[in-house]
Amino acid sequence: MDKNGVSSFVSIMRGCNNMCAYCVVPYVRGGERSRNPESIQREAKELFENGYREVTLLGQNVDSYNWKNESGVVGFPELLEKVALIDPLLRVRFSTSHPKDISDDLLHTIARHNNICRHIHLPAQSGSSRILKLMNREYTREWYLDRINAIHSIIPDCSLSTDMITGFCTETEEDHKESLSLMELVGFDFAYMFKYSERPGTMAARKLKDDVQESIKSERLSEMISLQNLLSAKSKKNDIGMVFDVLIEGFSKRSVDYFSGRNSQNKVVVFPGGDFKKGDYTRVLIERCTSATLIGTII
Ligand code: SF4
Repeated sequence: MDKNGVSSFVSIMRGCNNMCAYCVVPYVRGGERSRNPESIQREAKELFENGYREVTLLGQNVDSYNWKNESGVVGFPELLEKVALIDPLLRVRFSTSHPKDISDDLLHTIARHNNICRHIHLPAQSGSSRILKLMNREYTREWYLDRINAIHSIIPDCSLSTDMITGFCTETEEDHKESLSLMELVGFDFAYMFKYSERPGTMAARKLKDDVQESIKSERLSEMISLQNLLSAKSKKNDIGMVFDVLIEGFSKRSVDYFSGRNSQNKVVVFPGGDFKKGDYTRVLIERCTSATLIGTII
C-alpha cells in the first residue's frame, strides 16, 4: 500500500513458470500460484471503501494468471474486468506483463473500461532476436513489435514502458543497435535500463559466459539512457495541448500551491491548486512540461 493513501497494490499470484536465463525468481519463489479471484476482488473493494482510488494488480507474469475450480476457469482478462467493475472511480493498473503472453483479449478488456489505465509495462529486455533466445524470453523482436502494433490499434491512447538490459552474454554492437532501434520504433514513454550483472544460480551463470567488458556495458547503457531521455521528452511534448483526467495524489513536492497526480497513462501531472483533496479527480489541460512532469491548468 502506498503512503499517499490513494494508490494501493494487491498481489494476484506468486512465483513464475518462466525460466529467463538471467533471473533468480523461479528458483527463490517457485512456480506460479494464482490467488482466488473472489478474495482479490474483496480486497480491492475494501481498499476502495477505505478511500483508495487506484489499485495495481501485481504478479511476475500477470498474463498467465489462471484460477481453476469446479465452476470454471478465470484468466487475467476476466479478473481485471471483475476488479474494474467494483466502481468506475477505482482506477485499475497491473504489472508485469510478459510479451509472449499478452493477449488481444486482454487489450480489448482494457479498451472496454475507462477505469483500466492506459499504460502497459512490457519488458522487452533486448531488441535482438538472437539475444532474446539466449535470454530464454520465448519471443522474437518481430513478435514483440507485433504485440506493440496490437496495443496501438486496440488502445490508441495507451502509453508504453519497458525494461532493457545492456551487455547480456555475447551481446555484439549489432545486437545493441537492434535494442536501440527497437526503442526508437516503439517510442517508449519510459524505460528502466540496466547493465547485465550475473546472478549466481541462474541459467546464464551456469551456461553462458559474462563476456561483455564492463566498460562496454557502461558505454552501451549511457547511449541507451540518452536515447530514452529523448524519447521521454518527445512523449511529454506530444501531450502539450491535451486534456487528461488526473487522480490527485497530494501536493507537488516543490510547492503546496500545486497539486500532483497522475493521468491514466501514468504520467505525473502538476497544476496550481483548487478546492480539492487527495483522491479527487479533475480534468487538466497540459500547457508545458519538464523532463519528469507535465504541467497544466484545471479546466
Ligand atoms: S524475468 Fe520475469 S518472467 Fe522471466 S523468470 Fe524472472 S520473473 Fe519470470
